[in-house]
Amino acid sequence: MAKAQKVSAAEWVPHTRDLNVLRSAAPSCRGCELYARATQVVFGEGPRSANVVMVGEQPGDEEDRRGHPFVGPAGRLLSKAMEEAGVDREKVYVTNAVKHFKWIERGKRRIHAKPSGIEVSACRPWLEAELASIEPELVVCLGATAAQSLMGREFRITTDRGRFFPHPWAKEVMATIHPSAILRVPERYEEEYALLVRDLKLVAERMH
Ligand code: SF4
Repeated sequence: MAKAQKVSAAEWVPHTRDLNVLRSAAPSCRGCELYARATQVVFGEGPRSANVVMVGEQPGDEEDRRGHPFVGPAGRLLSKAMEEAGVDREKVYVTNAVKHFKWIERGKRRIHAKPSGIEVSACRPWLEAELASIEPELVVCLGATAAQSLMGREFRITTDRGRFFPHPWAKEVMATIHPSAILRVPERYEEEYALLVRDLKLVAERMH
């Protein structure tokens, strides 16, 4: 019987805390199959001195084309909510649990496809290396994929959002909804957006 191939980014992640070295190495990663259909890797961005790191799920269509995290519609909504909550985006490092865009074709459009648990776990060494390099006080998980990557499969945004937990990769971790989830339910936009701002105000309090 053929031996199952190990799916992990570990062998592509340099043993360094130098963020620039990590960023330069990321495009070579073949830790899972997602690189094959993506335009490019989308690594985290923001100040190396950031006390807060925000982690999303994966790059979206626009991020994949432009090569930067949180520059699409969800990123714009996040910026708006951060501003309203008093969180300075310039002081926050933003990244994703998975660094390549996973998508399915629908007509001429590329539609987001949720990364599998295996893909999230394969990409985890990159996230761990980024956090080891930045050593943030607080990691904010945006959505269940990021939260489960850091806090385990049992973590539930519905019950645990807005709470602070100790974590080996940062002093504290908290989770809230991913802004793209707000965009997917226009009928509840106002309510969900207000809850995101409420959670981000807790982040602003920690930052100040
Ligand atoms: S998604 Fe992550 S593990 Fe998979 S190829 Fe891209 S960088 Fe590597």
